[in-house]
Amino acid sequence: MSALNGILNNAPLGVTRNRALQELSELRESLELATGRLDQPVPMRLTCPSCGQLHIDEGAFATKPHHTHACQHCGEVWRPAVVATVGVRFLPGFKNEVSK
Ligand SMILES: [Zn+2]
Ligand SMILES: [Zn+2]
Repeated sequence: MSALNGILNNAPLGVTRNRALQELSELRESLELATGRLDQPVPMRLTCPSCGQLHIDEGAFATKPHHTHACQHCGEVWRPAVVATVGVRFLPGFKNEVSK
């Protein structure tokens, strides 16, 4: 009887633990993926969803990949993409075309 009780008590715990381990490995996988992508942030023209101002990452933020961006005009914080991005005035190679 006590052995049966032990199995019944451990079964839910075992399931939870396996699920937790699975979720942990999935989390680690996505973290590694994200870390790999963090080395090369995607340059984007980011506009604030709140006030519509163009968000430019300057200074330290221009080289530091980040997911969330804070608007310099209204303080809105948002995440434009799942990958790391840097807000740029001109996309690479588009500088001449945009200035017309
Ligand atoms: Zn930013
Ligand atoms: Zn804003």
